[in-house]
Amino acid sequence: MSESEEKSGKQVSNENIGSLDKLHEDLKPKIQFSCYLCGMFEECHYKGKEPPFVSGSVKFREESYVIRDPFIAPPPLGKSKAEYFIIIGTQCVICKNLVCKGLSCSFYYNVTYCLSCLEEVMTKLPKEVQVRAKKQIANSK
Ligand SMILES: [Zn+2]
Ligand SMILES: [Zn+2]
Repeated sequence: MSESEEKSGKQVSNENIGSLDKLHEDLKPKIQFSCYLCGMFEECHYKGKEPPFVSGSVKFREESYVIRDPFIAPPPLGKSKAEYFIIIGTQCVICKNLVCKGLSCSFYYNVTYCLSCLEEVMTKLPKEVQVRAKKQIANSK
């Protein structure tokens, strides 16, 4: 018979909980995004090309739906961190439907195409891009 017990008592100071609550309130995602192909639903913090929380240093080519990475602390003012946010999805350049960044939903080449529009524009893409696009379509089926 053996008996072992391990317990570590950690005391965490909770002095800043009040201001943390307010911070979390500010961080609440409010913009709804849902992918028209897979139905993925997400609440985003920002929709647009220049997310304010990266201090204007990042510009997306397309209007994007963005969430802040909940596991990374906000960078100091004036500095940006690429890993600080996640792009959830964007609008298909052709059908204007919202698609997520999933490989079975969208394809990116300068702009974002949903996979069903991708098949339509396929012949207009450069050869090497077509190869990549066809592979992705094949994998998504
Ligand atoms: Zn999707
Ligand atoms: Zn489309």
